[in-house]
Amino acid sequence: MEKKSDLKITITHLYPKLLNLYGDIGNIITLKKRCEWRGISVELLEVNPGKEIPASDIYFIGGGQDKQQIDVAAELKFNKDFLTEQRDSGAVFLGICGGYQLLGHYYQPHNGDKLEGISLLDAYTVAGKKRFIGNVTAKIDYLTPDTLVGFENHSGLTYLQGETKPLAMVTVGNGNNGSDKTEGARYMNVFGTYLHGSFLPKNPHFADYLIELALEKRYGEHIQLDNLDDDFELKTHLSLVGKAY
Ligand code: GLN
Repeated sequence: MEKKSDLKITITHLYPKLLNLYGDIGNIITLKKRCEWRGISVELLEVNPGKEIPASDIYFIGGGQDKQQIDVAAELKFNKDFLTEQRDSGAVFLGICGGYQLLGHYYQPHNGDKLEGISLLDAYTVAGKKRFIGNVTAKIDYLTPDTLVGFENHSGLTYLQGETKPLAMVTVGNGNNGSDKTEGARYMNVFGTYLHGSFLPKNPHFADYLIELALEKRYGEHIQLDNLDDDFELKTHLSLVGKAY
């Protein structure tokens, strides 16, 4: 087994200049810090339009307005096959809201043409009549605490199909579509969520879960992360559980 002092992961931030709504960059900062606090070195790469997407252990794509999604969809189309290979090799993806929508088959906005996604998730999104804005609490069975919290602001309604399963089940708020109680999505190590805020600072247990998956992908074995003093983060998390306004 790799010595814990030599561990490293690569994180690639996709289109930060276009998709970074509500400070989604906080997700990158959380992943990076929670690695570095444990002595895991992080190679952080940024991909902006026109640049080639590198192989990576973790890919992050944030949220954005329809206009920015149009620009990013055009970029992602050229990288669909490569990113599918990355998914199939166990790479971890986290997409937030607009970025999440583009990880599915398509996003049909209110006005304009359907935006093709890269189908890493068997899901599709159509713009709804109502914009969902507010706090969300959702239950995730395989983590402790068994909750995820965040803030949603989207008109897109996302529907999951096939082997793509919900990330969590909504107990407060709307989630994917406000009707089937699902929030977010997972297929293999590809994760999407509507939770902004940003998401990972308020859900450190999920950040660590993603880091462990990335280490397992890179080193071929499960590497248990050392505990951190998460007292403040978990108090913040628990203060938001069940909070509607
Ligand atoms: N434009 C998309 C929607 O309204 C995504 C918004 C977002 O990323 N917050 O559903």
